[in-house]
Amino acid sequence: MANHGRLQTIIMLSALALGVVVGELLFRSQGALEADSGWMFAGNLLLLRPLQMILIPMVVVAVIHGIASIGDPKQLGKLGLLVAGFYLGCMLCAATLGTLLVESIRPGDGLSAEVSAQLLANGDAAYQSDASRLATLQANQTTGILGAFKGIAQQLLPKSPLGEAAAGNTIGVIVFSILIGLGLASGGERTQRAREVVEGLFHAMLRVIGWILWMMPIGLFCFLVGIVGRVGLESVAGPVGAYMLTVLLGLTIHGFLILPLLTCMFARTNGWVFMWSVRRALFTGFATSSSNATLPVTVRECTGAGGCSSRATNFVIPLGATLNLDGTALYEAVAALFLFQLCGVDLTTSDLIIAVLTATLAAIGAAGIPSAGLVTLVIVITAVNASLHGRGVAEIPVSAIGIIIGVDRLLDMARTTVNVWGDCVGAKIVTHIERK
Ligand code: ASP
Repeated sequence: MANHGRLQTIIMLSALALGVVVGELLFRSQGALEADSGWMFAGNLLLLRPLQMILIPMVVVAVIHGIASIGDPKQLGKLGLLVAGFYLGCMLCAATLGTLLVESIRPGDGLSAEVSAQLLANGDAAYQSDASRLATLQANQTTGILGAFKGIAQQLLPKSPLGEAAAGNTIGVIVFSILIGLGLASGGERTQRAREVVEGLFHAMLRVIGWILWMMPIGLFCFLVGIVGRVGLESVAGPVGAYMLTVLLGLTIHGFLILPLLTCMFARTNGWVFMWSVRRALFTGFATSSSNATLPVTVRECTGAGGCSSRATNFVIPLGATLNLDGTALYEAVAALFLFQLCGVDLTTSDLIIAVLTATLAAIGAAGIPSAGLVTLVIVITAVNASLHGRGVAEIPVSAIGIIIGVDRLLDMARTTVNVWGDCVGAKIVTHIERK
């Protein structure tokens, strides 16, 4: 088992390096690849789609199994509050870190008026031509943070769990599964058989996920070729490059220092060792840019090599994959403030506080799917714009987001890894608390 794991890691790291090299070579020799190149198609087919296929059945079975073994609704309520508080704290901390970094590094400063006008014009063109996201971006602009939360509230009480499942909305499916889990737990002898069936299905799915994981290096390779071949490594230059490095620095500090520290403090275990033990989940997050699609692997790795209890994991991870997006919160704060810097807008401390709070809320509202953070970024920009009212400072156009659309997928890979890692830390801590 350990040898398998090591072999898989070596193959994955090689696929990662090879993907970057081949992508860059293609970019240099043939020019930028299309967004829907054959490489992206192959990555979707080999990795993303198999994981998406198993996502909803896995959420149902894992949550029912987890809740049925917690049993007591009172205990569940306490656990829910604890997990929600922990997730909120982590996201606020990540958004604050992002704000501090972007305000000290200031990647958007020092450009001449012509250069920043040119960047904004290019950004506007990219924004308007991004047909796949334009409608969502505009909808988020009009509905704002309240609209995002109304959407979540409706998903919390779904009219039809099957409808939510078909639409891939995990929140409604989780709520439904919690109820069924409680029903099974309280049924005593009469629901014993059903509990055993759910447990059996849960273990069967863990096996299937293990098989899918063998495809991961090929999927990762294809995605990297497609993404690097589209923007090239030269995108890491100029102000956009400095912005990317700021996001990556923040994610590194949060992922390698803050989250391991929290693991040490609250789960009494070495955070880096735990990080290594769940590395396959982190690689999957990196490859797919989707915490939701990674969820089945996260559950498998946490309950397996990560040593978390399945009672804690099966409850904490599905909630985390939809609501706890630390990397996204950090990214939203950095990206929004970078765009304000580019436009030469000076922000006060209260504007920065608004940015931290809305970045956190926008991250909670973002789904665990590729680019979700980019489309909810509109909410942060609109909120900071609103706080400028009456001060004689010009607002920035929302279409400035176009400046960073091109490099978003690369950052998405990195922030999704941190999102998944934050969920794993939650599971480890709850396992420790529960054991105590
Ligand atoms: N792709 C991220 C995730 O699935 C969300 C985002 O775009 O920030 O966790």
